[in-house]
Amino acid sequence: MIIRKKYRFEAAHIVRDCTSKMCKENIHGHSYVVEVFIKGSKLDNGCMILDFCKLASVKELIDSFDHSYCMWHKESDELKEAMAKINKRIVTMPISPSAEGYALLLYILIRNLLRKISLDNGEGEIILHSVRVHETESGYAQAFEEDLPLADFSINDVVFSEDIMANWKLLK
Ligand SMILES: [Zn+2]
Repeated sequence: MIIRKKYRFEAAHIVRDCTSKMCKENIHGHSYVVEVFIKGSKLDNGCMILDFCKLASVKELIDSFDHSYCMWHKESDELKEAMAKINKRIVTMPISPSAEGYALLLYILIRNLLRKISLDNGEGEIILHSVRVHETESGYAQAFEEDLPLADFSINDVVFSEDIMANWKLLK
């Protein structure tokens, strides 16, 4: 059985080297919708695959991107310095912040968080099935386990600014 939890965040980016001049040359924002799909084959004591209240760390992770500037780590030093001066909430990403980049990055980060959830209410094994990131109302990217070879980075390569980390309760 698959369960799904939906989140949202608002963030800004530039997608370098894409085809659209609008997207690759201008800072602009999106209202992102993130769907997290979790697979399990056993029901817990409450007849659930996983109680959504156990996903608090996933919510905190998604909130870390909210009202932030999400920047590819290969941006110029000039932009990085300018952003650091005028913006408090910055996420430096080891992959370009396209919908595909977000989906892959969030898949890896959320998979790591799910491993830390305490399964103490009769749950069976839970597996992150996929993460879907809607960048617009009509388009999304969805990352699965089989897409992991596309990622040439680890979770430690994502850098959240101090203002973001100051709000962390669970991710510390
Ligand atoms: Zn965009």
